[in-house]
Amino acid sequence: MMKTKRLQNYINGQWVKFEGEVAQVINPATGKSITEVPLSTAKTVDEAVKVAKVGQKEWAQVPAPIRGELLYRVGQIMADRKERLSELLTLENGKVIEEARGEVQEGIDMAFYMAGEGRRLFGQTTPAELQNKFAMSVRAPIGVVGLITPWNFPIAIATWKSFPALIAGNAIIWKPATETPIMAYELAQIFEEAGLPKGVINIVFGRGSVVGEAMVEHPDIRVISFTGSTETGRNIAAECGRNLKKVSLEMGGKNAVIVMDDADVELAVEGILWSAFGTSGQRCTACSRVIVHEAVKETLEKRLIEEMKTLTIGNGLEDGIKVGPIINESGMDKITSYIEIGKEEGAKLVAGGNALTGEGYEGGFYFEPTLFTDATMDMRISQEEIFGPVVSLIPVKSFEEAIEANNSVMYGLSSSIFTNDVNRVFAAQRDLDTGIVYVNAGTTGAEIHLPFGGTKGTGNGHRDSGVQALDVFTEWKAIYVDYSGKLQRAQIDV
Ligand code: NAP
Repeated sequence: MMKTKRLQNYINGQWVKFEGEVAQVINPATGKSITEVPLSTAKTVDEAVKVAKVGQKEWAQVPAPIRGELLYRVGQIMADRKERLSELLTLENGKVIEEARGEVQEGIDMAFYMAGEGRRLFGQTTPAELQNKFAMSVRAPIGVVGLITPWNFPIAIATWKSFPALIAGNAIIWKPATETPIMAYELAQIFEEAGLPKGVINIVFGRGSVVGEAMVEHPDIRVISFTGSTETGRNIAAECGRNLKKVSLEMGGKNAVIVMDDADVELAVEGILWSAFGTSGQRCTACSRVIVHEAVKETLEKRLIEEMKTLTIGNGLEDGIKVGPIINESGMDKITSYIEIGKEEGAKLVAGGNALTGEGYEGGFYFEPTLFTDATMDMRISQEEIFGPVVSLIPVKSFEEAIEANNSVMYGLSSSIFTNDVNRVFAAQRDLDTGIVYVNAGTTGAEIHLPFGGTKGTGNGHRDSGVQALDVFTEWKAIYVDYSGKLQRAQIDV
């Protein structure tokens, strides 16, 4: 479709000409290169941090409502440019254009939501225990913060992190995934057009093992906000721990849809199709397990297989395509290896299971929507994140067994239950141990004003988006003003 010019790092409000090693950015739908991205070094990170420290001091002095005005402008430019952004997103990531539009819209929503936060950023005022004394708490910016983002939601996740960081008065060093740098490039242009002062946002492209690690180790980056795999997150957390650095982690998932014996099975089929095969199963909230009551198992399985056959697979920019490509070759290899694992473990492959090649798929990375049935909870395909269009159907005998099956994995991002029994709805929302719970909807579809994140191996207690995102990017400061004119000692002179 297009070959854009080589991307450049964005540092101190400048596009910095890059002469070093580059990586090709590949369109997963065709296997063809669309642009080149710099593979920067630790030196570039250090240069970016120096200017960010200066930029942050000035930015923190700008009143938060005025910082909010700037985010409104960012949101408006994104809205004006929604179609361009969506097409570029599909080009670099592969997700179908309708989903790309949804992702861009999520970023727009986040801009307007966080802009409003510029007039809130609430702290608390509270009585003091002594006379003529005033007490309050306020949110203070932390300084220079580091954002490390994955390829599967290259713009939405960036906005979940950067907008709250900015509204709180921080400066940013952002390392996007090497597979999907174009969204970062576009967003930097939007920040510039909106009038963000120089040095406040800095984008350093490069490998996680080089640029990412340099950010994690840099003493002047005081927060790391990371979204990606659990393995990488665990290593980042260990390093941040050694440096007493605040770290927010959003990582893997093994999300389940539970279908009870009283469920609307047709609605459940729709929910499963959308959650399991949208973004080709490469969402952190993707449904990769269906826990089904044995009374409706046969009906659900039959209807799922029928509907899976109707899913059109291909280039996400083409009309009518429902499932786009997998991000790259190594994603394909991982999925293929889990098909073999599932077969060896004794699960029954009843749909899909193959890579797609030949006419219409030339050069791209395509995999059929796949269903294993009669899986058990101890199987690896029921426990491990596959990150592709592969679902394991696990039959259970009761509501209690369904909840236990859902909670038996190391992850805790999203879960869903289809039931028409109000008692089960309330028991399930209490007992499902995930950060997000859906009732009579699939496992995806988070809204930006609610906290996003998970328990157990998915996270470390922080949340992206929602007002809770501000907790990652601010320190609480307690302030006491004594206007009594004498020394009053707390706990003693009361
Ligand atoms: P990843 O391999 O962990 O990479 C994520 C980011 O970390 C990339 O920018 C990567 O850079 C960087 N990175 C890699 N090694 C690093 C290191 N040693 N130090 C610092 N940074 C490093 O994950 P991914 O495959 O891109 O993303 C898929 C994963 O993200 C899945 O597990 C998915 O569930 C998870 N995810 C979670 C959420 C959530 O909110 N819970 C949302 C979306 C995705 P390069 O790739 O450029 O080298």
